Amino acid sequence: METKKTICDWIDENKDEVFAISDYLWEHPELSMQEYEASQKVADLLEKYGFLVNRGVAGLPTAFAAEYGSGKPVLAFSSEYDALPALSQNKDSVVRDPVIDMAPGHGCGHNLMAVGGVLAAIALQRCMIEQGLAGTIKVFGTPAEELCIGKPFMARGGLFEEVDAFLDWHPSHRNRAAACDTNAYFNVKYHFSGVSAHGNAPWNGRSSLDGAMLMGHAVEMLREHIEPGSKDSPTTLNYAFPDVGNSFPNVVPANTVIWCVGRMKNAEMAADVLSRLDACAKGCAQATGTTVKEEVITATHDMIPNLCLGQLIEENLRYVGAPAYSSEDQEDAKKIQKAMNAKETGYSGKIEHTVLSSQPVTDSSEYSWFAPIAFLNVALAPSEDAGWHSWTSCKFAGSSVGKRVLETAGKILALAGYDLLTKPEILQEAKAELKERLCGKPYQSLLPENAKPDLTTNKAVMERFR
Ligand SMILES: [Zn+2]
Repeated sequence: METKKTICDWIDENKDEVFAISDYLWEHPELSMQEYEASQKVADLLEKYGFLVNRGVAGLPTAFAAEYGSGKPVLAFSSEYDALPALSQNKDSVVRDPVIDMAPGHGCGHNLMAVGGVLAAIALQRCMIEQGLAGTIKVFGTPAEELCIGKPFMARGGLFEEVDAFLDWHPSHRNRAAACDTNAYFNVKYHFSGVSAHGNAPWNGRSSLDGAMLMGHAVEMLREHIEPGSKDSPTTLNYAFPDVGNSFPNVVPANTVIWCVGRMKNAEMAADVLSRLDACAKGCAQATGTTVKEEVITATHDMIPNLCLGQLIEENLRYVGAPAYSSEDQEDAKKIQKAMNAKETGYSGKIEHTVLSSQPVTDSSEYSWFAPIAFLNVALAPSEDAGWHSWTSCKFAGSSVGKRVLETAGKILALAGYDLLTKPEILQEAKAELKERLCGKPYQSLLPENAKPDLTTNKAVMERFR
């Protein structure tokens, strides 16, 4: 317990440096795949503390892999830093009040997430140096979590292979260890190409829109023949026509895209439905005399939960305690709850018991196939109905309550890391649990070999707001 207190004291004395980065990211939000400033600032900080940083890994200019120490065990922390579109919000307002209309904002608290794990990694490193503890600390800078793009490409690039445990977290509306499964997920575009013609002689053309529309119909039919999933994690298959080839009915369109996203029970099912969608695309192209090209934007696995590491997180969450919400935090929380027509409860400060449950899709699920994952939630929003991915969570992430959440997370993750370094039996048990849950299934990337991350994603929007 003495060492745990020393780790927490170090964080208290040194947290201002990460608070400053978190504030900067909040003031300068960058959308998925365009997190150039954010990844640089976080990587620079790690380098300053003696981590070796490899920037631009896995073909992602805004990703990095940082490392300190040597030998086993290898503990990994995670940093996400992308913002969300159109959530700009004045942090001092308790009503909708954009700083810049339609500009991005940190409505998922990634300005905090960007440095929470980093704070833990550095605090743990200090402790390792002081006590001469063996082991390696890694920190992964992972772009585009909001689009689930970063981690599957980093996994395919082999970056997670030597890790023994992942220590991850996310701001939330609750304080708990999230021993959660998630659905697997894919995001894929089918580009239909035909032959353009004048509307008064359409027989000279082959309509790409016909191909895409027929595929939409095929997707509707396919839906009935895939397992529905459960209420907590339902199977969904959605599609849209993002830019229909022609804007004028008197032209046979040469190019049309149909865009599909799916949430599936597990990776196996995602791979199966992806291949059935490919078959639909080919059939629809053949029927309409067009051609089609598949573009997989991303595809992630289901999350493999780990109860053993969940319990380790809960223990340390109870040691550190829920964030010390100030009376101003509570006042703001109640005002926001009122604005959202939610019950004005403020923060409860309750710590939940660790149970297996489901949570929405995230690409952190990729981690969970390589090593047991410890996942912490700390309450940034006072209640579920106070909004998330919303101006309200953006307000909280920029306010002082965000800093309390960030330092709480940093402490809990650092302490969990210390336990893993000093009590090898915990890691052994966690690994045995993962082995049992995986039933011998290897990690196989759901990305086709030729899939590349689209570096132009959000580029035009970001240029407007930088
Ligand atoms: Zn998030």
